[in-house]
Amino acid sequence: MRLSRLTLHHFRNLGSQDLEFPPEGVALIGDNAQGKSNFLEAIYYLETFRSFRGARDEQLVGFDNELFRVTGTMQATDEECGTEVVTAAFERNGKRKKVSVNGDEPERLGDALGRLAAVVFSPRDTQLVSGGPKERRRFLDVVLSLSQPGYLAAVQDYRKTLHQRNVSLKSGQPPSVVMAWDSGLVKLGASVIQARREWLTLYCESFSNYYARVSGGVTARITYAPSLSLTGVASEQGIAEAFRDALSVTAERERRVGTTVVGPHRDDIQLQLDNRGSPLDLRQYGSGGQRRTAALALRLVEAKSIRESRCRRPLVLLDDVFAEFDSGRSERVLELMETEETGQVVLTAPREEHVRIHSDSLPRWSIKAGVVTI
Ligand code: ATP
Ligand code: MG
Repeated sequence: MRLSRLTLHHFRNLGSQDLEFPPEGVALIGDNAQGKSNFLEAIYYLETFRSFRGARDEQLVGFDNELFRVTGTMQATDEECGTEVVTAAFERNGKRKKVSVNGDEPERLGDALGRLAAVVFSPRDTQLVSGGPKERRRFLDVVLSLSQPGYLAAVQDYRKTLHQRNVSLKSGQPPSVVMAWDSGLVKLGASVIQARREWLTLYCESFSNYYARVSGGVTARITYAPSLSLTGVASEQGIAEAFRDALSVTAERERRVGTTVVGPHRDDIQLQLDNRGSPLDLRQYGSGGQRRTAALALRLVEAKSIRESRCRRPLVLLDDVFAEFDSGRSERVLELMETEETGQVVLTAPREEHVRIHSDSLPRWSIKAGVVTI
């Protein structure tokens, strides 16, 4: 599948436009604050029905407008057949989000996720490395929701159960009331932990390879840092038991602090530089460039995961990502993108010279005050 058409209606400053996409993608050139990131945000909205910049839906509605709508038409490539039309709309007043696939509203939003098979690279990605554990958990949750059936439901139900449990802890309910939530929490939590652990085990080597290729030598690695010890634990059943044990150990403490202190909601991904056998935490010791490289490697792993779990070449959205790399790194990133079987590429840049991907073959579009000119 590839994106063949995009129709925008009052998404941020983008007005109303109907655009035909070239098969290889496009390079969108424009000055600051003209709408380049907005444009990619609109496209990626069709993948997750959320802003990749963490904005609330209300903020995405054009100023002075009541609703936005984005429609993408995906056209089959050679091996596949048919087209798919995904529409997402949001109404400011009723706070209503409406999503449809080929005209039908899915029963749950989760059923419509991931139709584009897209991945976004943006300068914000450094937050994945420099920011708190929450950023990395969100990364895992998005990647796993898009690649593993059932993951999203498990993580959402886990959050609901956790919330209920925390409410009873906070209001000082007796242990028996708090513990009534435990079996659900443990079961859902174990399946979330298992999925995260498997994914990170599967892709840690790819991460190291990507990192080494972009950095031109230095290596780094990612490891799962679960909030409960999983040493010697193999099965999901075993994880559930370890989780239950951890809950009983922390029972006293959680009563004092009034919240559940152990579980996948406290997980993290550890990022380390291979410093000749004595690993260094990238968050604490990494340079700006090293952190950007690690963030980029995480996105490349995400793209690989899309390719492998959905058997599709990902649509790659690059938001002005080369501006902050030295030229050696940028060259290597571009080489990597070309060898990595990416599908379409939509990239934004303030200037032409940042556009060299796909051997200079991307058609150039320009954007000014939200209006795209082909
Ligand atoms: P840069 O090169 O600096 O990253 P950009 O081209 O990526 O710039 P965007 O972030 O896409 O810029 O767009 C920013 C513009 O969009 C700003 O002028 C901002 O005021 C406008 N904008 C943001 N939200 C809305 C909205 N809901 N309605 C209308 N305009 C908006
Ligand atoms: Mg921008």
